[in-house]
Amino acid sequence: MSDLKIRKNIVKNVKRIVIKIGSGVLTNGKDKIDEAVIKKIVLQTSLLVKKGCEVLIVSSGSIAAGKTELGIKKILTDIPSKQAAAAVGQSHLIGYYEKYFKKEKQKTAQVLLTHDDLSNRRRYLNARNALMTLLSFHVIPVINENDMVAVHEIKFGDNDTLSALVAHLVDADLLVILSHVDGLFTGDPAKDKKAALIPLVEKITPPLQKIAGKSSSPGSVGGMYTKLKAARITSDSGISTIIVNGTIDNVITRVFKGENIGTLFLSSSDKLTGKKHWIAHTLKIKGKLTLDEGAEKAVLKRGKSLLPSGISDIAGKFDSGDAVSCVDSKGKEFCRGLVNYSSRDLKKIMGKHTSKIEEILGFKVYDEVIHRDNLVTL
Ligand code: GLU
Repeated sequence: MSDLKIRKNIVKNVKRIVIKIGSGVLTNGKDKIDEAVIKKIVLQTSLLVKKGCEVLIVSSGSIAAGKTELGIKKILTDIPSKQAAAAVGQSHLIGYYEKYFKKEKQKTAQVLLTHDDLSNRRRYLNARNALMTLLSFHVIPVINENDMVAVHEIKFGDNDTLSALVAHLVDADLLVILSHVDGLFTGDPAKDKKAALIPLVEKITPPLQKIAGKSSSPGSVGGMYTKLKAARITSDSGISTIIVNGTIDNVITRVFKGENIGTLFLSSSDKLTGKKHWIAHTLKIKGKLTLDEGAEKAVLKRGKSLLPSGISDIAGKFDSGDAVSCVDSKGKEFCRGLVNYSSRDLKKIMGKHTSKIEEILGFKVYDEVIHRDNLVTL
């Protein structure tokens, strides 16, 4: 099937869509939010809703709007200033969306999330229920990170990741990231004249991740690196992603006509279950276990749980129930899971047979350090 046919098939069948709009698009390359951009996005989104789609918007721009209001020109680097600017700007940002959606007779809701809201399984399900209820009321949620309270430990860090986790949370059919770049290129277009746009990515492979590098641009948080990470999160949830230049005229309408613009990332056929996806992509990793070759094989090839005997090293401080990553002797990560023992206890029992756990610790909760049901291979 041609790339174009694949696209047309995908966009034809979508019902629930998450659209992420970056600060670079909203400010149109200047240092303040361009209301005309929001108006255009709202008009195109409303057309989708009128056709029967459900749309959730993830919008950046609170810090940019706050800086304008406070008369700040420089790039803010310290967290309290960013938090203050976000608190001032968020109400203005949402005000713009409300103003233009109201003209289209659409209702909106402001939703502010932190990483913590999705790390706790109960709050994760609450957030999901609330968003689903908003959709059932035909309301368009306009979502942003709750920058006012989000300090490092509880931060998503970038709205690309937030949009992907939201898409997963609501079982969306498609994530569209409106960016200030055209999509994923074969190299860095700023440095390499031969770099060409990749229209279709069937699978996100390590060489592709290398191309994306860690690029970023002033005033925007995520570069192509965070966009690729977002596409990986959605792909693992069975959701396709389109990354496209948000400054193209009528970009949303054209994407949904199936035009070959931007880069389409296809969803993976081996979709992770809800809980495994949550372990792999939503939880913050609190520590690292180095496994010996035998344990690596048992986990990867034989579908086994992880026992203390296969652990050769431990890094980080974590409690039982936390998420940790497992690496091989070269430091390459190959799985993640929820541990049954804290780092303190694990240091005492690593490398030991399960029959020794109780003798060493004075108690035993489980034989497994990570049970197979709480383990996801990457
Ligand atoms: N939450 C930030 C804001 O609204 C932006 C984060 C991002 O662009 O990734 O300004």
